[in-house]
Amino acid sequence: MASKTASKETSFLIVGAGTFGLSTALHLTNRGYKNIVVLDRGDDVPSAFSAGNDVNKIVRADYEDPFYATHALKAIHAWRNSPIFSPHYHHSGYLVTSSASAPSKATSHVTRLITALSSHPDQPKSSVAVLHTPEDVQSTVPHLTGPLTGWSGYYNSNAGYAQAAPALKALYTELLARGVEFRLGDSGHAVSILPDTQTAKAFPAPRPYIRTADGKIHCADLVILALGAHTARLLSVAGAQLTAKAWAVGHVRVSAQEAAHLRGLPVVNCRDVGFFFEPVPAGDEHGQEWLIKVCAHGGGYTNRGRAATSLPPWQAEENKAIPVEDEMLMRRLLRETLPELAKRRLERRFMCWCADTADSEYVIDYVPGYRKGLVLAGGDSGHGFKMLPVFGGWVVDLVERGQQTEKRWRWKTGDSDGQEELGWRVGGVRDIREVQRMGDGAEATRPRL
Ligand SMILES: Cc1cc2nc3c(=O)[nH]c(=O)nc-3n(C[C@H](O)[C@H](O)[C@H](O)COP(=O)(O)OP(=O)(O)OC[C@H]3O[C@@H](n4cnc5c(N)ncnc54)[C@H](O)[C@@H]3O)c2cc1C
Repeated sequence: MASKTASKETSFLIVGAGTFGLSTALHLTNRGYKNIVVLDRGDDVPSAFSAGNDVNKIVRADYEDPFYATHALKAIHAWRNSPIFSPHYHHSGYLVTSSASAPSKATSHVTRLITALSSHPDQPKSSVAVLHTPEDVQSTVPHLTGPLTGWSGYYNSNAGYAQAAPALKALYTELLARGVEFRLGDSGHAVSILPDTQTAKAFPAPRPYIRTADGKIHCADLVILALGAHTARLLSVAGAQLTAKAWAVGHVRVSAQEAAHLRGLPVVNCRDVGFFFEPVPAGDEHGQEWLIKVCAHGGGYTNRGRAATSLPPWQAEENKAIPVEDEMLMRRLLRETLPELAKRRLERRFMCWCADTADSEYVIDYVPGYRKGLVLAGGDSGHGFKMLPVFGGWVVDLVERGQQTEKRWRWKTGDSDGQEELGWRVGGVRDIREVQRMGDGAEATRPRL
């Protein structure tokens, strides 16, 4: 490729068929690019290693920063109107609160969100209702039958949730129909980049090559890495800015009758405890049972041990136990809201890994040293799934312009370990090896100190 920017003949190799990789392939095809190959180590899409392979994800434009609120409003528009995404989106509304024992950081974040929502020019004016007391919360969301001790916050009707795994599957199907090639399993599992960052400058090859687990070498004019939490395993230099972090997820099973009572439930997010969603079908063979996804809030967990870089465990199986403290938070959330479910078995537990950055910004830029042949697209800090319909457009903008004009998305040289004092982060970070965890079958995973 003579020019530094992409032309319609440019060949693309996207490494990672998760949220950002699929979105990038979508936007490349939208803009007329035809020569696109996507690699993923999973045997199917969505892969067992994708943070997006989940029952549901919050889709909201409730950001303090108007820049992200504007992008998220565009994403919501696409979730509601695109034939690919709209079947998997529920405009259920969003309840955001803090509890009686919330640290002041959590309550002031909620207050600032209310101000940000009411001052954003594109946010529908009547969508937000401020809720001062537990009674206000209960009358706005009558599904909630628990005490809601000290709860206050707001309800935003202009938000909802996506059924995440089905949305990724629908996008994958669409991309296959558009002629995008996928290599999965060993033939899609990238194990090294050649040359590596140490030798890239001196290497005579005009572009990077990717070696996969089956021993094959893949090349393209532009290689785009979209590996989420796994990025530093392939590109170690990225570990200084993308830190793999996980949060705990569990599910409570409800009957069809209970699910019917909870129909129309908004996403319930208590900023200092956790969040949960409307029930979705469990997908069991009789189709009679439903699942409520529950998550615990906190600063997240690294997996580092004595290593400098945090990376997700190698096997997806190792993710199936969650910290005991997070289970307690999930049960506390249910006791406050839907007490009849608080003692039910917490099933399909897992640790969901994503790539966190200190400033919570994405990194969408060329990797230094590869002569603009290698792009990194990642760093979601736990809030990137909503951008599935729009994220890839930002990657294509980069490769068409030949430089990252959005300063906040540039390659970062700082270290991500010192978490910046961001208003929405509540709780400290711990290493997953230091905490006791519990799996579905109540088998305990001892801390590895
Ligand atoms: C607990 C939790 C809750 C979240 N909730 C929300 C939410 O409610 N709303 C929201 O908007 N966002 C949410 N997010 C964030 C969202 O999930 C991420 O922003 C998004 O999935 C990141 O996409 P990605 O493409 O970077 O990574 P992923 O979706 O994880 O994709 C990475 C892909 O790379 C593949 N891969 C890994 N290694 C290799 C390799 N060596 N070779 C080839 N392929 C490889 C994996 O198989 C995977 O498919 C949440 C995240 C977490 C952790």
